[in-house]
Amino acid sequence: MAFNIKDYIRDVQDFPKEGVGFKDITPLLNNHDAMMSTVKELITLLGDKKVDRVVGMESRGFFFGTLLAAELGVGFVPVRKPGKLPFDKISQEYALEYGTDMLEMHADAIKPGELVLIHDDVLATGGTAEAVCKLVERLGGKIVQLNFLMELSFLHGREKLKGYDVQSIVSY
Ligand code: IMP
Repeated sequence: MAFNIKDYIRDVQDFPKEGVGFKDITPLLNNHDAMMSTVKELITLLGDKKVDRVVGMESRGFFFGTLLAAELGVGFVPVRKPGKLPFDKISQEYALEYGTDMLEMHADAIKPGELVLIHDDVLATGGTAEAVCKLVERLGGKIVQLNFLMELSFLHGREKLKGYDVQSIVSY
């Protein structure tokens, strides 16, 4: 049977708080064939674009971001929550529904002109991805694509990412 990523994404109601429906990718990570089919689909989404670095955001962007980097034969760059990265870094604040949050990247992780693929598991409101775009561009990186396992299209995250090539394997 053809691979369908939705078969490996579990809906968990009221997590992390009441009223929220959480998309859980641990069943996908738990199945080797599904995991490798997912990497293949992400590579197909990329097409023939050249990439020098894959950037993935904490923490679920690390899983497939690293697998993608391995498949593409390039380095992986983690974007982390404040206080986690040990070396010289740059920070980017972004808005949440209530208040603000911050993401950080090592200042030497991307060289000017490098071609960057940004990866995360879920595109929701787009705030996280928008902040990561700013971090990459502040270091002079050129974003060739943002790809996601899934997109919660009712949250219109794409609108924050106009002008970029935004791809996802499935949409809810
Ligand atoms: P955004 O900034 O609103 O687009 O939220 C995207 C970030 O929140 C990503 O880093 C996701 O990992 C995380 N996220 C949002 N909703 C879910 C979900 O249902 N499952 C897993 N992660 C989620």
